[in-house]
Amino acid sequence: MARSFKAVRKTGRVVGLRLFRRNNNAWLRVADVFSRFPLLAGIIGTAMALSMGVLSFAALWQGRAQALQNAHEASENVVATLSADIARNVEWSDLSLRTIVSSMENPQVAKMSPALRPLVLFDGATAASYIGGAFVMNALGQITDARDPSNRTDLSFSDRGYFQAHAQDANVGLYISGPYESRLRGGRPSLALSRRINAPDGSFAGVAVIALNTSYFDALLSRVNVGRAGSVFIVQRDGVMLARKPPLQNDGTGKAARNVSVSPTFVAMKDLPSGSYISTSPLDGVRRLYTFVRVPGTNLIAAVAPAEDDVLEGWRHRSAIIGGLTLMFGGGFIAISWLLAISLRSRAIALEKLQRLAGTDSLTGLSNRRALDRRLGEEWRRARRNDQPLSALFVDVDHFKLYNDTYGHAMGDDALVTVADCIQHAVKRPGDIVARYGGEEFVIVLPGATAASAVLFADRLRRKVESLAIPNSGSPRGFLTISIGAATTMPRQGSDALKLLNSADAALYRAKRAGRNQAIHEDCLAGRTV
Ligand code: GH3
Ligand code: MG
Ligand code: MG
Repeated sequence: MARSFKAVRKTGRVVGLRLFRRNNNAWLRVADVFSRFPLLAGIIGTAMALSMGVLSFAALWQGRAQALQNAHEASENVVATLSADIARNVEWSDLSLRTIVSSMENPQVAKMSPALRPLVLFDGATAASYIGGAFVMNALGQITDARDPSNRTDLSFSDRGYFQAHAQDANVGLYISGPYESRLRGGRPSLALSRRINAPDGSFAGVAVIALNTSYFDALLSRVNVGRAGSVFIVQRDGVMLARKPPLQNDGTGKAARNVSVSPTFVAMKDLPSGSYISTSPLDGVRRLYTFVRVPGTNLIAAVAPAEDDVLEGWRHRSAIIGGLTLMFGGGFIAISWLLAISLRSRAIALEKLQRLAGTDSLTGLSNRRALDRRLGEEWRRARRNDQPLSALFVDVDHFKLYNDTYGHAMGDDALVTVADCIQHAVKRPGDIVARYGGEEFVIVLPGATAASAVLFADRLRRKVESLAIPNSGSPRGFLTISIGAATTMPRQGSDALKLLNSADAALYRAKRAGRNQAIHEDCLAGRTV
């Protein structure tokens, strides 16, 4: 059913404009940003996942440093304990040696019978299990007194290094020999702690010797747990290995002791009182964390070297799990972020298309009333900002009901499209709005147009449609014509877009009343009608 112009006017058709909608909700604004820049979701999601990944891997790396630090501290405790044990036993043996030397340099003791003398010379400390024997040797290297009764006077020990060291130098003090095979105890690996005995005139009178079973060191090291590929060892400063756990591989000579003086891992420790470093052993190619300390008062170095692989095993296991999960979840997060971004983008494209369609009149291709509401609001605000006039025109096809009745609805549609094209081509500026308001009515908005130029435009448009000469045989003029109501206002000076349209509507009403096919302008500011 066609509505009459008056009836339409009475329904208050321009009342529904919502021009100043504002959304102050911050969350909705953020969501709005995401919907306008959908790829932002992917970029932010990727950045977040990468940041979490970097933090996670930094924490893991920190865990590695912590594992190495813990191993270092444990190693320091081990070498300190080993060093203290060895130092205490060497000190006790040295006290016994000093007793022997001072006794032997006492003429009263020298005069005692060989049966009694051991009771004076050898104190209880020499009976310790790790001590293989305690002896006094004369200047020829022959044993004159021994802790144990089996006294071998037939053997000479003058070839031993410790004997020669004391014979040649009166100021050696406590001398700790390298390992040797004992002649008295069936070749048992031993170590000699010795001191020089002087004759009353200061000349060399012999040496006091305490033989230490090197098995003492093995027993000491056996209590230390160094992991699967770690090692712990006691080495002399000249590089002679006294004991090692695990034992060194046999070098083919059948001897367990090995000289490691040229090994780079040993060179790094031989001149320092203590220290630690990471190095690859040339003996077995294993990378270890070396921690060492010089045993006070001796030429011995206690060192412990857990393998880096053993120390980091737990950390590697944890890292593999945490790193794997981090990669998995991080990757999943990135994938989901991009899926979201892509779907947001598709939705944004679809929405834009929908909005375009929602704002377009399907018959004429002009903006529809919804789009008019939005764009008129924008132009109104712009005109107010720039303090410019704004003109609106209501266009209504005259006697269009008659046209439909005469030529049919389909022809009526074609005529409407022709008129719409004509109006569309009449506007020139990009900001100008042409909308189908409904039925055979159109609205034109001319931003910046003064009342005079609106009048000129309206009249030119009216004549243009008239010159189309579309027959409308039922109408008084015989051709299709339009009536135009125009209005102009200055948005800066108050009023609103609704009033502007109502003024144009009122002017159109007057144009109809005045006989149609004419344009009437209502200047909202001056209150004049042209
Ligand atoms: P007036 O000069 O007073 O404007 O008379 P009018 O006949 O043009 O006005 P009226 O409101 O009585 O009739 C408007 C007509 O426009 C009625 C309706 O059939 C026609 N119309 C509205 N929309 C369409 C459309 O989309 N296609 C066609 N073919 N006709 C339409
Ligand atoms: Mg009408
Ligand atoms: Mg009409």
